Amino acid sequence: MSIDITMTKPNLSDIWSWLAAVADPEIPAVSIVDLGIVRGVRWLKNELIIDITPTYSGCPATGVIALDIEMAMVKKGISNININTVLSPPWTTDWISDIGRKKLKDYGIVPPAHAANSCAGMIGLTGSNAAKIDCPLCGSGNTERVSQFGSTPCKASYRCKNCLEPFDYFKAF
Ligand SMILES: [Zn+2]
Repeated sequence: MSIDITMTKPNLSDIWSWLAAVADPEIPAVSIVDLGIVRGVRWLKNELIIDITPTYSGCPATGVIALDIEMAMVKKGISNININTVLSPPWTTDWISDIGRKKLKDYGIVPPAHAANSCAGMIGLTGSNAAKIDCPLCGSGNTERVSQFGSTPCKASYRCKNCLEPFDYFKAF
């Protein structure tokens, strides 16, 4: 591959806004920036370095995210990309932006409680010890956890006993 010396490097705020348009593969309603997956963006000479921290080490989506980022950048004419996976510090639900939390809620997924309040969610307690989660549809606190794992390992399945609707809770950890 030859390096195009005439390439102008887009500025970082443009790159952040393009990344903010890359949907999370598991929850397309939110972007990888909303979720706090993108940790840093910088130019190293002509190479664009993008640091990402996967939301959950067991999430198979990490490879998809890297590919989606690469495709989004290539579309903008940036081909020299290095996606750097950063595992420390580990991702926490506290990194989800306020906009991200609102989008999750609008999508019908209860945004995670702040990690400090959610030991129950982290260690997978069930029954009456499970985290108390309000129904996103009717607001009732009368909900029960159906299973620790929802449609993905990152989410737990809940059911509202008031309106009987099932919903997902994005586990805090
Ligand atoms: Zn309900």
